[in-house]
Amino acid sequence: MELTAHPEQARYRQHQAHWPFCRTAIERWRVDGSTIPVAVYDLAWTYTGAQTFVHQLADLFQTYNRVLWEHFPYCSACGGQCCVVDASDVRTFDLLALALLGETPPVLPAWLDAGRRTCIYLTSGSEPPRCSWPERWRTVKCWSFYCLGSKPLAKGADVGESYRMLTAALASIVEERLPQPLRRYEGVANEQLSVRLEDPVDFSNTIHRALAAIFVDPFMQCYPIASLAVEPPEATPNLFLLEDEVTDFIVAAMVELDDDRAGSAGDLLAKQQLWEDLATLSWIVENRPATARRQLHELVQRHAQAQDFDLGHRLHSQLLHLLAVWQ
Ligand code: SF4
Ligand code: SF4
Repeated sequence: MELTAHPEQARYRQHQAHWPFCRTAIERWRVDGSTIPVAVYDLAWTYTGAQTFVHQLADLFQTYNRVLWEHFPYCSACGGQCCVVDASDVRTFDLLALALLGETPPVLPAWLDAGRRTCIYLTSGSEPPRCSWPERWRTVKCWSFYCLGSKPLAKGADVGESYRMLTAALASIVEERLPQPLRRYEGVANEQLSVRLEDPVDFSNTIHRALAAIFVDPFMQCYPIASLAVEPPEATPNLFLLEDEVTDFIVAAMVELDDDRAGSAGDLLAKQQLWEDLATLSWIVENRPATARRQLHELVQRHAQAQDFDLGHRLHSQLLHLLAVWQ
C-alpha cells in the first residue's frame, strides 16, 4: 500500500521530523565533551558513559528476546503477530539511543510492504516478515513485549503457570543485566523494575519513566529538544479503527454461536463461556475502563488454551491484537 495511506504515516513523519534534532543534540554533546550531572541519582553522564549504558541495555534486551524466541515455543510458533498498527511506541529515548549507537531509524519507501493492520515498520518482502529497525536497537516497547502466542497451548496446559515460567525467566535476565544507572533509579524510587513484567506494556512504560528521570530529561535540559509526543492525536483513530473490527467480530461470533447449539454438555459449557467473554470484550471496547489491560490479559490467558473451537482461536487472535496496542 502507499505510505501516505497507512494509518501510522503521520506518526512515522513525526519520528522522521524528530530524528535530526536528536542526532544533532547527541553530536553536539560528543563534540562538547561535557558531563551532565543528575544529583538525585548520583549520576554524572559523559558521552561515552551514555554509549556504554545504551550498549548494556541493548545487550539486556537482546538476551531477553533470545530467551523468548529460543527457550519458549510461543514467539517462534507465532512469528511476530504483535507487529500491528500502533505497537511500536517510538519514544525520544529510542531515537537518542539510535544516535548514541551510530544507527538511524528506518526510512520507508513510498510503496510499503506493510498492510493497514500491520506496523508501518514491518517489511513483508522477506520471509518471514522482518522489522526494519536496526537489529542493534528496536524500541523499548517492541523489545519488552511478550505473550503466549496465538497458537493453542498443549491440552491441559496450565496457562497461569506458563505465564509465571515465562515472566520468571525474563525477570531473572532483567535483574541480572540491569545497567547500574537503572539500579540507582530503583534505589531512589524504591521500585523493582522487573516486578512490572507481569504486564509487558506496563513494564515498557515504567522503563521509559525511569529513563526519562535518569537520562532523557537531564539531557534535554542541557541540549534542548522538544519531546516526542507519546500519544499524538492520530493514535486514537487507529485504536478506534481496530475496535470497529473487534466489534464486527463480536457480532459475527455471537451470531455463529447462536446458530450452533449442538454438541455435548461440555461443548455447551465452553460455548457459554465464550458468549460471556464476547460480552465482556464488547463492554471493554465500549467503556474503556481503567482495568481494560488487566481484563484483556485475563481473557487472553483463558483463550490461549482454546482447543476445541475455531471461534476460540479467532477470539484469541483479536485479543492479542488489542492487547498489543492498548496502552
Ligand atoms: S518490532 Fe518492528 S515491525 Fe514489530 S512492532 Fe516493533 S517496530 Fe514494528
Ligand atoms: S504475538 Fe506474542 S508470541 Fe507472537 S511474536 Fe509477539 S510476543 Fe511473541
